[in-house]
Amino acid sequence: MQLFGSSGTRGVVGDGLSQEFVLRVAKAAGTAWAADRVFVARDTRTTGEMFANAAASGLASVGVDVDRLGTIPTPGAVRYADVNERPGLMITASHNPPEYNGVKLVGADGVELGVDRLETIEEHVLREDFAIAEWDAVGDVRRVDAANREYVEGLLAAVDREAIADADLTVAIDPGHGAGALTTPEFVRRLGCEVVTVNATPDGHFPGRQPEPVASELNDLRALVTAADADVGIAHDGDADRAVFVDETGEFVAGEASFAALAAAELEAGDTTVAAVNVSQRLVDACERIGAALELTPIGSTNIITRIRELRAAGERVPVAGEGNGGVFFPDYRLVRDGAYVGAKFLELAADRPVSEVVAPYTDYENVRINLAYDADAELDAMLGAAREFADAADADPDTTDGFRLDYGDAWVLVRPSGTEPKVRIYAEARSRERAESLANAAAGPLRAARDDA
Ligand code: MG
Repeated sequence: MQLFGSSGTRGVVGDGLSQEFVLRVAKAAGTAWAADRVFVARDTRTTGEMFANAAASGLASVGVDVDRLGTIPTPGAVRYADVNERPGLMITASHNPPEYNGVKLVGADGVELGVDRLETIEEHVLREDFAIAEWDAVGDVRRVDAANREYVEGLLAAVDREAIADADLTVAIDPGHGAGALTTPEFVRRLGCEVVTVNATPDGHFPGRQPEPVASELNDLRALVTAADADVGIAHDGDADRAVFVDETGEFVAGEASFAALAAAELEAGDTTVAAVNVSQRLVDACERIGAALELTPIGSTNIITRIRELRAAGERVPVAGEGNGGVFFPDYRLVRDGAYVGAKFLELAADRPVSEVVAPYTDYENVRINLAYDADAELDAMLGAAREFADAADADPDTTDGFRLDYGDAWVLVRPSGTEPKVRIYAEARSRERAESLANAAAGPLRAARDDA
């Protein structure tokens, strides 16, 4: 695929991503899909309305009626698709910085399009094969205001409200000025929790923090947890399909630790779970202890979704799956990453005992990540060449499902190019920070040298 990556298509607005491109993708999707009506939704980015207008215009031009959902979390838009059996375009760049935007395509089954269906749409775009409608057959466009409310109602019906309400939790929420600001505080309040918020105004300038909920961006949430004496803090990314947590002492909980805790609570012997190739040892250990199988896929939510579907079609029980970045699937609820739902599942655990105790079995590993930016493809090629040499020379078996994963028994390191940004990412995990840093640095050294020589 040339146009679509592992998470749809994304780019810097005005430098790779234009409204003309979104218009063409919308015309292509409207032509390829056998749907009379298609939704268009967006997150809070400053360029969201511009691209949503282009998408609606493109769909109408090929004779498709359009439901404009406005600003809504990606899982809310996906729910709308599922319930109404209506495909659509979600304008979002998820966790990427504010200058980015993108398009995610959602099928009428309420699942992000897989590779084969994206390829069909890509062919229409590349061949400019659009079923342009006559003047009296263009689509009409209507506003749909109820999607956020219905999304919250659906969430409330899907979780153990009583258990959470009985615990009298105080919950600090940081939607990071993203689409979750419109839904998660209300949802958690209606679960019977006391809610306090920070960065809870929808704002595409992201004045309080960057859209990616990494530890360095969550100092305000940590301070709020302490100041409000909250039991837990919840933070989302820009389109609220991810959730990460802060414990009752104000400590950031690694996404790998909360994922392992959520998975351990859900998995039984004989179950299968699916994770990406940067999976944490914490989940590996939990699966071994429980007697559950673990399947690895390339990084990216579409890869995980594809594997979950294959396993379930083969009769396997897959109650939980995901990645250590806060993106967790509960496939029996819906085949989507839903930050609010993940938050509520974590509240179910927090209702039993303090969050620091919930995650204590999974905090004895340290994760290090190094991003190596590049400007030209030659630099990327040089870095990947160096990565291959490094992997061949290493005293560990390389797994090449996606990039190079080297397993050292007590620790591992992964080198792979980002699917959404011009960066090569290096991940390492070990029981001590020193070991993780030394593994990551050992891999980064030759890559940096190769890039600088290219
Ligand atoms: Mg996201």
